[in-house]
This record gives sequence, structure tokens and C-alpha cells, in this order.
Amino acid sequence: MKRIIGNIDPENRNVSIWGAGFSGLVLGYYLKDQGYNVTIHEKSNKVGGKIQTIKTGPGLAETAANALYLNQDGLDLLKELKLEPLPATKKLKRLIFLKGKPRKPFQVSLFGKIAANSYKKPPLISDGLTVADFFRPLLGEENLKHYLSPALGGLYAVPAERLHFKSIFPLVENRAQFDSYFSFLKMFFKYQKSQPKLDISGSVSFEGGMQTLINRLAEVLKHDIKLNSKEKPRLNGNTVICTDAISASELIKDLRPEISKELERIEYRSLSSTTLFLKREIRSLQKAFGVLIPLENGFNSIGILNNKAIFPANNQNLSAYTLISPKDLTREEVLSDLKLLGPEITDEDIQHIETTYWNHALPIYNLQLFLAIKKLHQLCLKEKNLAFFGNYVAGISLRDMISSAKSFARNPTDHKNSQY
Ligand SMILES: Cc1cc2nc3c(=O)[nH]c(=O)nc-3n(C[C@H](O)[C@H](O)[C@H](O)COP(=O)(O)OP(=O)(O)OC[C@H]3O[C@@H](n4cnc5c(N)ncnc54)[C@H](O)[C@@H]3O)c2cc1C
Repeated sequence: MKRIIGNIDPENRNVSIWGAGFSGLVLGYYLKDQGYNVTIHEKSNKVGGKIQTIKTGPGLAETAANALYLNQDGLDLLKELKLEPLPATKKLKRLIFLKGKPRKPFQVSLFGKIAANSYKKPPLISDGLTVADFFRPLLGEENLKHYLSPALGGLYAVPAERLHFKSIFPLVENRAQFDSYFSFLKMFFKYQKSQPKLDISGSVSFEGGMQTLINRLAEVLKHDIKLNSKEKPRLNGNTVICTDAISASELIKDLRPEISKELERIEYRSLSSTTLFLKREIRSLQKAFGVLIPLENGFNSIGILNNKAIFPANNQNLSAYTLISPKDLTREEVLSDLKLLGPEITDEDIQHIETTYWNHALPIYNLQLFLAIKKLHQLCLKEKNLAFFGNYVAGISLRDMISSAKSFARNPTDHKNSQY
């Protein structure tokens, strides 16, 4: 688990948080649970940050996270919040767009390649190693492009060449070398097996979408959130900055210029989330969770989710799909992607399109981010009451943020499990 950067002083029971996105809310929740008095400063007029569920005429449209992938901490949080999760339909096909249509990713040729190369010794795990460098000898260039990059692109929105190996696979910890790919894969299966069995597993949403989770956290913290806040941190007490790295850099510029410079180095990826309501189903995505799309296929999107199949209770009327794209999609671009997936779809089938574009959607988990985070941990070791949290610190997923926030609130001075 990745540790929050910096420290708060547990002797001082007041904590000021900047940002009421998911990271600020979940950290505020756990700190309050530990008896701290929390004040959350949010510059906009609403809580949730990127996570908003828009109620359109035909149905719900998420602007960022569509689901929470559960671990034990996530499940415990939902129980504490008395929230009833809506589990995703199990056993849906997860497809990759290959040779002109969506197909199951586990093709015989891929398995053959993995089996034939699993005896090989992977490259040394250095700080500079990318995910592509590590897997190239196992998979070969073609499979990297067709399987691994789209699979990781679905999570991190950049290809394997840009992803920093140690950041994406923190499980390897300080191991410098594996004897073979087989022993690397074995480590993963062993880890999976060691995980506790959960009452509910996989991805979940809520009746009313992800906004329900945000609203419930905000309800617990309702006396502690200041919307439309223009205040700046003064560092005269415990301060945790839970914004994106760019805003964090700006907020701390005058007080801690060295920290601000490191935060500025963190790069972001732009992305849009487009929810599309159709009068008919896309045939090639029937009974599918969605499809991941390798970059060079003429699509504008890198992944398409089949919302009605995943969460039928939240999509009872029309067929609904979410397109994730690096661009701010126009209606023509949406239609062009639909035509590539299902030539039967016409413009008349489109009931409604809801697009949200984020200029700084997700931090890029590259070497630059790894080095910046390492330096920030060092710089903040001497800080007694300043900490930083958000999806550039603990991982992109809500699940990782829940675990890091919980562990920090319970033990804010404990650095022994820190990766750095
Ligand atoms: C398209 C998309 C799909 C995604 N899908 C998933 C998914 O399915 N599952 C999953 O787990 N994750 C998903 N994610 C990731 C997840 O949504 C994000 O990691 C998470 O919402 C980020 O939360 P945050 O609190 O770090 O940042 P933000 O949501 O950016 O919140 C930061 C907050 O800080 C506030 N702020 C900024 N500057 C200041 C200031 N000066 N003073 C006060 N407040 C300030 C902002 O207004 C904002 O409210 C997705 C992300 C995107 C973009």
C-alpha cells in the first residue's frame, strides 16, 4: 500500500484539508472517525471533485469513476456508511478490439507465447524500467501493442511504454530480479490466493450511481466542509492537501517552494467520459463488460463500457455505454466509433450523449512521477504537520485511496510500511 506523503501531529486534534474530492472526503471521514476535528476547504461549489453522477433524461451518466473495485477496506467502509452496494454483473465477457472486431483477449497464440517464454529471465528491476521493457521478452512487440497496452490503457490511460514498472507493480517491492517470468507470475497468484474472501467482490456502484457514495461521505462530514472556499493553507496547524498535484503546487508555492517544484513535475493525461444512450444494443458488445481498443484502430475512444450489462438496475430503459477517450468527443466522433463497433447503429439510434472532458484527468504513472513522489516523501520527512494525498500519491483507483487514507488516519506517524 502506498503511504500518504508527509505527516500530521496526532497531539494536535485539528486537521485542515484542502479539496473535497474523493481523497479529501475519505481522508476526512477516517480522521473524524479517529476523533480529529476536521475542516475541509473546497474551492468549487460542490463535493466529489471529478466524481459526479449526472441525471440525464434517459438515465445516469458518470463523469469519472463508474465503479469502486472492492477490497476488505472498501467493503468495511460501505458497511460503516450503511450503503447498499450494487454489484456488477459477474461473468461478462471482457473484450479487446482485434483484427476488426471485439474478441476475447485469451487467444491461443497469446497463451502459446506466454507458455513458450515463461522460462526466460525478465530484465533487472531498476528505477528506469517501464512496464513495456519488463514484458517485451515474454509477450513480444505485437502482443504488447495488442493486449498489454490496451489493458493497462483501460486503467491508466497511457500505453505500457509510458508506465513505470515499480509504480504499477508495487508488489515487487525491493526485489531486483526474478529467475523467470514463471516465478514473477507465481508471486502474483500467491498474492491473489492470500487475499481474504469477501462477502461481495468485484466492482460495485450504488442506486443513484457513484454520487451516492460521495453524498454519504459528505453527509457524515456536513458540518466540516466549506464550499466556495478561497482560503490558502497557512501551516499553523495540521494541513493535508488533497487536490490534484497542479493545484497542490499552486497552494503551497509561497510557503514551501521546493515542495511546490516537485509537485509541478507531475504530468497529467486529459480524458473524456462520454455516456451514450441508444435505442438499441450494439450487437458486438452483447453480454460484454466492454471493449478495450488498441490505439491504431481508427477509434477515438480507448475503451467502451456496456453500462446496461454491468449495472442493469441503474440502466433499466435504454442501452447505455460509456466511451473513454483522450479527446473531447464530438457527436460525429462518437458515431464514427459506434459504426466501427456496430455498423447497424445509425444517428437515429442515439437518444442522448453526455460528455465530460477533463484537461487534467489522471496523473501519468511514469518515471517522472515516481521520482517526484520519492523526493516529496524525503522533503516532507521533516514536516511535522503537512501532508499530501490524492490519486497521484496512492494510486488512481478509489480502492487504493480508501486503504491509504484508513491506514494514515489510524497511524499518521508510522512510516515503516512506506514504499519509499
Ligand atoms: C474518466 C475517468 C474514469 C475513471 N474511472 C474510475 C473507476 O471506474 N474506478 C476508480 O476507482 N477510479 C476511476 N477513476 C479515477 C478516480 O475517479 C479519481 O482517481 C478520483 O476521483 C480522484 O479523486 P481526488 O480526490 O484525488 O481528485 P479530484 O477528484 O480532482 O478532487 C480534487 C478536489 O480538490 C479541489 N481543489 C482544487 N484546488 C483547490 C484549492 N485551491 N482549494 C480547495 N479545493 C481545491 C477540486 O475542486 C476537487 O474538488 C476514473 C477517472 C476518470 C477521469
